[in-house]
Amino acid sequence: MIVGSTTPERAHASWLIPAPAGDETLRSVLQRAADFYELRPDALWQSLAEGIDVSSGDIDWPPDAIVARLAHTLGVTASRVQRLTLDEGKGWLAAGARHAYCPSCWREDDAMGRPRHFRRAWARVLALHCARHGKPLMLWHPARGHHAPRAGDDITLAEFLADAVDTQPDVRIALDAIHDVAVRLDRCLSFGDPWPPSWKASPTEARQMLVHVMTPDGPAESTLLSQAYTNAALRPFVHSGPNVPEAGMTEGWERLRRTRDPATRRMALWLVGSWLVPTWPSSFLTPLPPL
Ligand SMILES: [Zn+2]
Repeated sequence: MIVGSTTPERAHASWLIPAPAGDETLRSVLQRAADFYELRPDALWQSLAEGIDVSSGDIDWPPDAIVARLAHTLGVTASRVQRLTLDEGKGWLAAGARHAYCPSCWREDDAMGRPRHFRRAWARVLALHCARHGKPLMLWHPARGHHAPRAGDDITLAEFLADAVDTQPDVRIALDAIHDVAVRLDRCLSFGDPWPPSWKASPTEARQMLVHVMTPDGPAESTLLSQAYTNAALRPFVHSGPNVPEAGMTEGWERLRRTRDPATRRMALWLVGSWLVPTWPSSFLTPLPPL
């Protein structure tokens, strides 16, 4: 074990970073360590996995041998590392797409003197709200050359926008309606929870429609999502770009898993909700074209 060095010279050296928070993703921990050692996260991951077959693994769902090594590296118990892992289900965002955050949670991190970090609950494809603060998740923009959020990074604009939701009843109603569709769909598909009988399609069909609105079609390769818009008040939270192309050439559900911006995922949910939910509020938002 190397203690007091600023270089993780061996895969099982201790990382001299604050211990993982109780709800932090392991990738968030890796990103913090990468910034501390001025390395790329994938280089640090390869160092950590030295001598272990991780061909089917990921820092967030690591094989048992990595769990044990991570526990040693972080100075915590293996069971604590295990509690931070995700499963391999498709309900999680792709590894490089887990950039949604709650500004209020990061303010709490600042106040507690702990690193700002990404929560496991924000890593789901259909996670659009912070359950703790009831506010919309926002897209994190990493500082150049950094892989983890820093305490001094300016989040005042995101904080202002998220806080302003409560002063705009129409925006709150729309975001809550979108959130409701997302939560019900995630719980029904992942945990078998009940599905509203009055909704116009099954959860499987709703999932297919989510994929459909994000899939390029026609000679212009446009999507239903890229043609949709909202009014100005809702636009910071529900929009189709400029991040639509980030899904690249992927297909199906993977396109949604690659979509970092919760506002873009909200737009997809809005389009589906407009078609799915008979009681949808539509007075201040016009999806195009009609589904
Ligand atoms: Zn929060």
